[in-house]
Order: sequence, then structure tokens, then C-alpha cells
Amino acid sequence: MKSKTPPLDASRPLEEPTFLSDPPLVEAVAGLREAAGLCSRIRADAPFQTKSDSSPVTVADFAVQAVLARRLAQAVPDSVLVAEEDSRSLRGEAGRPMMTEVTRHVRSVFPGATAEDVQRWIDLGRGEPGTDFWTLDPVDGTKGFRRGGQYVIALARILHGRVALAVLACPALSLAVPGLAAEPGVLAVAAHGEGTWACGMSGGSWVRLRASAVDDPKEARCLRSVEGAHTDEDWLSRIVSDLGIMPAPARMDSQAKYLVVAAGEADVIFRLVPPADRRHREWIWDQAAGALLVEEAGGRVTDLEGRPLDFGAGRRLEHNFGVLATNGRLHDAALATLRRVLPR
Ligand code: AMP
Ligand code: MG
Repeated sequence: MKSKTPPLDASRPLEEPTFLSDPPLVEAVAGLREAAGLCSRIRADAPFQTKSDSSPVTVADFAVQAVLARRLAQAVPDSVLVAEEDSRSLRGEAGRPMMTEVTRHVRSVFPGATAEDVQRWIDLGRGEPGTDFWTLDPVDGTKGFRRGGQYVIALARILHGRVALAVLACPALSLAVPGLAAEPGVLAVAAHGEGTWACGMSGGSWVRLRASAVDDPKEARCLRSVEGAHTDEDWLSRIVSDLGIMPAPARMDSQAKYLVVAAGEADVIFRLVPPADRRHREWIWDQAAGALLVEEAGGRVTDLEGRPLDFGAGRRLEHNFGVLATNGRLHDAALATLRRVLPR
């Protein structure tokens, strides 16, 4: 995608900030790299189950959650983890084939792990959201993971309802950012007040990311979910035409969309479910890491009515309606349009 990124502020130091050396973040980054490797090995033909909401869950979702939950418990002993999966569907006779595969993959990281260990580690993610907790989506964009599209591993720390730290691994994403390797695989981190930084999945230096400087809605590059079931397509067409956006919205799975906006390669994301699902409220692990990456790169993230996302309301964003993420410069124009054409 064409990049239009503001020049770097010469008054800011270019060296890496010290938060990148904080032990919990170093552990988290190493854990997500390890988990990305696990996903790449599992990706071809991953066995899957279908959850009660009809979404798929694969061996990779469970194996990554087990590995990262165990790593987090070791690195930050009193941490509370709120993660997407739990081990219920892996228990009993029906779950045995899947459980065997999950255990086999977890053993590639922790060689002595038993099936009971793996179930216990997965269920470390059943913590209660409070004033200080971590949230994990072990594979966000599972449909993208299965069809060869984008998917991410997303970890965030929530303090008093706000995202304080975000770590996102995007094994299939390439960004045309100077200093980043061209091959697919990007790891990104953001901390409140410290900016958004990225490096290659296999290493290299950290590069600071900036949202774009596009301020004319006509030029705005818009991203939307691939899934028709996650997008009110009629409404999105009305928004796009009311704002005068010329390029057709591009489809991308998962929170990789937010990283693309943080890197200045797209400018706006609208997220609103179709009318039949209008009572749907977003899961916190689907939005937390991505939202901080955009904000710390100079962008803005609110719901479709302009409210800040409230990560202190439980496992879902109960107090928010949809999501609007922009490069910052386009946010007010987008909200003004939304006030005219927002369905309820
Ligand atoms: P995306 O790839 O942007 O469509 O986002 C994928 C995420 O959408 C998944 O991780 C799901 O948690 C979430 N999701 C599942 N069902 C719905 C739904 N009906 N509306 C909106 N999001 C959903
Ligand atoms: Mg998800």
C-alpha cells in the first residue's frame, strides 16, 4: 500500500526506549515469537473444532494459549490472565484426538508436558478481569489462519480499564517500513506514553511506527474485516460514500488491520456488525493490543459514537458500540459522518 507518513520529529530521540528492555516485556516478546513459530508449524491442515458461536478453534489456538499462559505465569507470578480459550472441549472422549495433537505441539516447547499440564496451563486464562490483568487472543483471525490470510497472536496488559502494554505477533504480515525486513513476519509492541515499535519476527532492530498524515477523507485507505458476518456492509458503503472515500475498503482478517494503520499503510477502520447481531459487544482480547498500537503511533481509537474503549467492563466492551480506529487526523470527520448515518 502507498505510504504517506509524517516526518520524524527531530526533537525526539531515535534510540530504543528503555521499556523495550523491561523483563516482563522481553519475556512476552520472546513468548510471542515462540508461539508464532508454533503457529507456522501447525498452520498447514490444522485440526479444528467448531465453537458454540460457530467460529472455528484449532490446535494452534489451544497450544499457543497453553504455552503463553505458562510463560506469563513464570515471568509475572501474580498476574491474572483473561484469555479466549478454555480446555472444556478438550476433555472427555470427544476431545481426546484434539487434546493429543495439542499436547504433541506443546511438547515441542515444553518436552515433559502431560495432557493434564496442558489443560491446566490453558485454564490459567480463566482469570477474572479486574484492575490489573492481561488479556490474550492466542490466534486472532482463526479463519484467516485457516484460509492463508492474516492472523495474529495478541497480548495486552490492562490497568484500570485502559490498555497499558500491547504485544502483537503477525506472522503473515509484511510492512513496507524502512528498517523492517521485507519478508512476512512482524512483531509490534506499544506501551502507554512510549510509542509503537516493530521489528522482524526473527529479530533485527526496533523501528518506531507512525500513523499516516492523510487528512483528506477522499484519500483515506479503509480496512474492514474479511468476514461478511462481522461487517454491516450496507452501512459501511453509506459511510464510505458520505465521507467521499475513493479507494474501496480492503479486507483483512484480525488485529493485523490495526498494525497496518499504526504503520501508516492504511488510515481508517470501521467495525460494526450486521443488524441481526447489533447486540454483539466486542471481546476485549480482539481489540486491546491493536487499539494501543494505533494510539501510540499517533492515531485515535474510540467506539462509533466517539467514546473511549472501556476495557474495565468485563470480558467484553459492554459500554461501547463498534470500533472506529483512524490515523488521528481523520477521526473527527469520521465521527461527524457517523453521527449522521449511524444505525442503532
Ligand atoms: P476480524 O478478523 O476483524 O473479523 O475479527 C475476528 C474476530 O471477530 C474473532 O476473533 C471473533 O472473536 C470476532 N467475532 C466473532 N463473531 C463476531 C461477530 N458476530 N461480530 C463481530 N466480531 C465477531
Ligand atoms: Mg479473536
